[in-house]
Amino acid sequence: MSKGSQNLERIDFYPRGDIMDILIYGGYLFMNIKTIEAGLQGCTCGRAHHTNIRAVEIGSGITANTGEILTQNGFPKNILLVADKNTLLAGAGVVESLLGSGFTIKQHIYDNLRTADMEQVEVLEKLSAGTDGIFSVGSGSLNDICRLAAFRQHKAFAIYATAPSMDGFASNSAPITKNNFKYSYPAVQPSVIIADTKVLAAAPAELKSAGFGDMIGKYIGLADWRIANLITGEYYCPKIAALSEQAVEKIAALADKVTENDEESAAAIMESLVLTGLCMGFADSVRPASGAEHVLSHFWEIKKLQQGLLSDYHGKKVGVATVLVNKIYRDMAQVEDINPVYEDIDWENLKLVYGEGLVDDMIKANSPTVTQGITPEHLKACWGEIRRIVAETLPENEELLRHMNAAGTPVSAAEIDVTPALCELGIKYSAFMRYRLTLMRLMPMLNI
Ligand SMILES: [Zn+2]
Ligand SMILES: [Zn+2]
Repeated sequence: MSKGSQNLERIDFYPRGDIMDILIYGGYLFMNIKTIEAGLQGCTCGRAHHTNIRAVEIGSGITANTGEILTQNGFPKNILLVADKNTLLAGAGVVESLLGSGFTIKQHIYDNLRTADMEQVEVLEKLSAGTDGIFSVGSGSLNDICRLAAFRQHKAFAIYATAPSMDGFASNSAPITKNNFKYSYPAVQPSVIIADTKVLAAAPAELKSAGFGDMIGKYIGLADWRIANLITGEYYCPKIAALSEQAVEKIAALADKVTENDEESAAAIMESLVLTGLCMGFADSVRPASGAEHVLSHFWEIKKLQQGLLSDYHGKKVGVATVLVNKIYRDMAQVEDINPVYEDIDWENLKLVYGEGLVDDMIKANSPTVTQGITPEHLKACWGEIRRIVAETLPENEELLRHMNAAGTPVSAAEIDVTPALCELGIKYSAFMRYRLTLMRLMPMLNI
């Protein structure tokens, strides 16, 4: 906490929070990781919550201090710097700052990296030989391939963020496509995250809107997490869920400022994005940040890849999926009484839906199925509580749309080039691509 230092001013970004502590120090904005971690000690969920992140530094004009910040946090001096032409331009001054602080840099610069796939991870693994750390200048896919390469090669890892476009900065998993199938691989959290609010604020509006879409999906993820906990007793931490909820509520309140070139809101948005990644790390699970909406967006992505097509930004897809899933869950919860049935999966049809190259991974995710052992009687007994969770956790459809429109985030499949047929296919079958219980996955059994 800030007690004892006259240079530290505590600002309460999280009015409902008892854990969150943000400090401003000489123009820098720190997320006080140690305070957040301390607030989770002796957690009632019974698990110990730790993070490998040493520092999150978000501040105006701090690009010039990049080398100094890394040095202060013990980052090794001999590094592989990974960026693309756009992110290197956005982060102008990073390389000079590193050189000025005595870093030895090997660079790998992409033209414009749009997908995170295993081939690229392997390229980085080879390139990182002889270095001690990987430094990712960018966001999204760039961070993801670096995060996994660093994990597999036991290298230090840090991020300089160029756009508030997604919530994976602090995450300890990396969504990577391999043979067109998308998995979340266990990976490493960065030890340091640096973000210059001047750079974030000047990022393209489309990227900022995508970050908002990624965040607004948390409502669904949190509902799914509670429902899974209710039905199967899956691990759940109320404190981490509350922290993730604070992050999404904070960003929702800033919806109309998202696309503005405004440093203060860019900083606040970046903190929310970092916070949900931290939550995933603390819970050692993607649950605090990802539910049926992420699975649906991944399904659209892999089905398009199957046809050789690239998809729109991750956060834009997640936003559209959130609108759809929010409506489906709310509509289902209107039904007072249900008569669930045992699951009767048409495997032949399901195999056709997934098609060449994706079938094997889908079967693997369903061996056994995540619904195994769940009886219709149990679902019927839980239904009242499921309805309560949906009503408590999810926003009203109109409220959700209002926020998304204000943030410039797409709300319909047409806006992200997902055809009505693919949209429908995803709603019916996407949940089978993961061994993860969501309300979406229970739809066939609920018989609504
Ligand atoms: Zn806990
Ligand atoms: Zn996401």
